[in-house]
Amino acid sequence: MVQIKSVGVIGAGQMGSGIAHVCALGGYDVLLHDVSEERLKQALATIEKNMARQVSRGFVAADDKEAAMTRIKPAAELQSIGGTDLAIEAATEDEEVKKTIFKALSPHLSPNTILASNTSSISITRLASTTDRPERFIGLHFMNPVPVMKLVEIIRGIATDADTYETAVNFAKSLGKTTSNAEDFPAFIVNRILVPMINEAIYTLYEGVGTVDAIDTAMKLGANHPMGPLELGDFIGLDTVLSIMNVLYEGLSDSKYRPCPLLVKYVEAGWLGRKTGRGFYDYRGDEPVPTR
Ligand code: NAD
Repeated sequence: MVQIKSVGVIGAGQMGSGIAHVCALGGYDVLLHDVSEERLKQALATIEKNMARQVSRGFVAADDKEAAMTRIKPAAELQSIGGTDLAIEAATEDEEVKKTIFKALSPHLSPNTILASNTSSISITRLASTTDRPERFIGLHFMNPVPVMKLVEIIRGIATDADTYETAVNFAKSLGKTTSNAEDFPAFIVNRILVPMINEAIYTLYEGVGTVDAIDTAMKLGANHPMGPLELGDFIGLDTVLSIMNVLYEGLSDSKYRPCPLLVKYVEAGWLGRKTGRGFYDYRGDEPVPTR
């Protein structure tokens, strides 16, 4: 079995920065890459801020935070990720974007590098087939926010070998996470169940059954959910929610997965939720305000 010492993370958005954060605290050397220099800079600042919060709450020792921060290095070039023991792709939820990354990375990989994708819904088998090593390719699906959420869903592609699977499970456990195995079908387990619920909440809003506030209050107090479904959609990112619905719709050929036209409209407007400052709530003031 490969000994993982270094981890490359591709995509420095919400998930990539969270993955880099937990890997560095777990003692791994981390190279973090993004196409956008700005996102890379922002990610390092976010990781620093989130670790400082963990220190102030007594979850992480100040020395451990300092050591972890020195282990994270920004990587301007994708090819430098090829030298790491485990490369985790956490770029935008778009199959073409992910395939392009894996194709570009393949010629620069060390013979033993394991490849992983943090995709929420896209076929691991299809992504693996764009690389030179489908047997060393696996789905490592972290949850948002990564430093807080306990689960990593593990998805084997059709060719993933036993060593890669064992290494991935042990790696997730070394970060203090619990794993759950899902077969490689559209959106796996968590998002197969969760995202159609969010889409249904958006239909409920679209059809005028309730307002944003009424829907989220109803599900928080009536179903004991910690966040309302619209608030959760904003938290995940509405572009990601729409991509997952499209993967379910196309992958399972069932009209029950059709994305709500109102979700499409929000994404077309660039109102993607928290990450852009506006979604079903407007986050630009002191308190989130419903946008409908
Ligand atoms: P995000 O929009 O916050 O970040 C995506 C990042 O990818 C951006 O910084 C973007 O610049 C970068 N990127 C785009 N093309 C790239 C390329 N060619 N090379 C390198 N970087 C590139 O999105 P996110 O929420 O972090 O989601 C990332 C992945 O994680 C997606 O596959 C998503 O489905 C998955 N995921 C998301 C959540 C969630 O709740 N948001 C949870 C689990 C998994």
